[in-house]
Amino acid sequence: MIAVVKDTATTEQIDHLVSWIEDRGFRTNVSQGDDETIIGIIGDTTRIDPFILESMDIVERVQRVSEPYKLANRKFHPEDTVVDCGHGVLVGGGHFQVIAGPCSVEGDNLMEIARAVRAAGATMLRGGAFKPRTSPYTSQGMGARGLDLLMEAGGELGMPVVTEVMDPRDVQLFLDRGVNVLQVGARNAQNFPLLREVGRSGIPVLLKRGMSETIDELLMGAEYVMSEGNANVMLCERGIRTFETRTRNTFDVNAIPVLHHLTHLPVVGDPSHATGYTRYVRSAAYAAVAAGADALEIEVHDCPSRAWSDGAQALTPEQFSDAMRRIALIRDAVTAPVEEA
Ligand code: PEP
Ligand code: MN
Repeated sequence: MIAVVKDTATTEQIDHLVSWIEDRGFRTNVSQGDDETIIGIIGDTTRIDPFILESMDIVERVQRVSEPYKLANRKFHPEDTVVDCGHGVLVGGGHFQVIAGPCSVEGDNLMEIARAVRAAGATMLRGGAFKPRTSPYTSQGMGARGLDLLMEAGGELGMPVVTEVMDPRDVQLFLDRGVNVLQVGARNAQNFPLLREVGRSGIPVLLKRGMSETIDELLMGAEYVMSEGNANVMLCERGIRTFETRTRNTFDVNAIPVLHHLTHLPVVGDPSHATGYTRYVRSAAYAAVAAGADALEIEVHDCPSRAWSDGAQALTPEQFSDAMRRIALIRDAVTAPVEEA
């Protein structure tokens, strides 16, 4: 349930109403926008009589929110959330960024790749140090040493580091190293203890959509993180599993505008995992930008044939640089004001 407060209400009156609601055993979330203030009420709101709230002087109107996601719901927070990823890099609410780097951190070539993607215009560095691999017999990543290499490259180039955490017991290690954004991968999209732990960390989270997750389930994953007090969540469409086998996954480009409609959280598109093949990655990236993505996450490798993981979908630095020029043009085309006909 939300209570929209009249613009004449004072801070004191709003605080008073919040206490009144919380005294009745509910959680609240106050969203102060430019145009209106909304008090979100969380809990079993069937116990609240909306007419009592509506009869209060400062309350403009009351609306039930039927969706099970509340904190992530645009009805609770009409304005876009802007996530501050560090190094002055913002995502959402008109701020667009490109996250790039190898699938796995492999060693010294990370710095070379990071320099190349930075030169091409990427503003955030990705790389997996702890890798979720289908087989336990393939490379599982460099672990903590990989985090050190990422932080060294990110620090030198002024790029926030985005890297996947798989185990709630590792979150503290990532925080100690100064990782900027915790990625929760598709395979862990509904790992609720992990979602709670990254929520408790308080730092930005890039939450990927599970391979067979509905959009509502993805939003409920975000709700887990946010219910621990962390509003810095970015949602990532990375392709879903369908009957189609010509590509690794099927890029659900629809999810981008649908998410923008349902939630205030930034939406990221990952054309690399969505397609699985280098030759399709750029087209999917352009589609994501045209559909309104707030950021892209793209895998880039200096020598894809030697990559430890996901070489088949990696762009070379040259291909990435070419893609970045078109991404900028498409972004301009979809955000520039258009004269009335
Ligand atoms: C990755 O980003 O390398 C990754 C494993 O992604 P996903 O969880 O989307 O498969
Ligand atoms: Mn990958």
